[in-house]
Amino acid sequence: MKIRIDKAKCVGNARCAAVSAELFPLNDEGYIAVEEIDVPPGMEEAALRGARACPERIIVVEEGK
Ligand code: SF4
Repeated sequence: MKIRIDKAKCVGNARCAAVSAELFPLNDEGYIAVEEIDVPPGMEEAALRGARACPERIIVVEEGK
C-alpha cells in the first residue's frame, strides 16, 4: 500500500500526524513533509485513518501497490 499526498495543498493542521506521527511526518513549519509513503506492513489501518482525518482530502491511499 502506498500513500500519495498533494503536499502543496497542505494547510498544516496536523490531523494526519495526530493519527500517526510515524506515517505522517511534518516539517518544522507543521506541514506534511513527504509526498509519497510506502506503508509498512501492519500500518494500513493507520494509513486509512490518516487519509480520512485530513480535512483537505489530499491524502490518497493507493491499495495493492
Ligand atoms: S491532515 Fe492534511 S492538511 Fe493537515 S497536516 Fe496532514 S496532510 Fe496537511
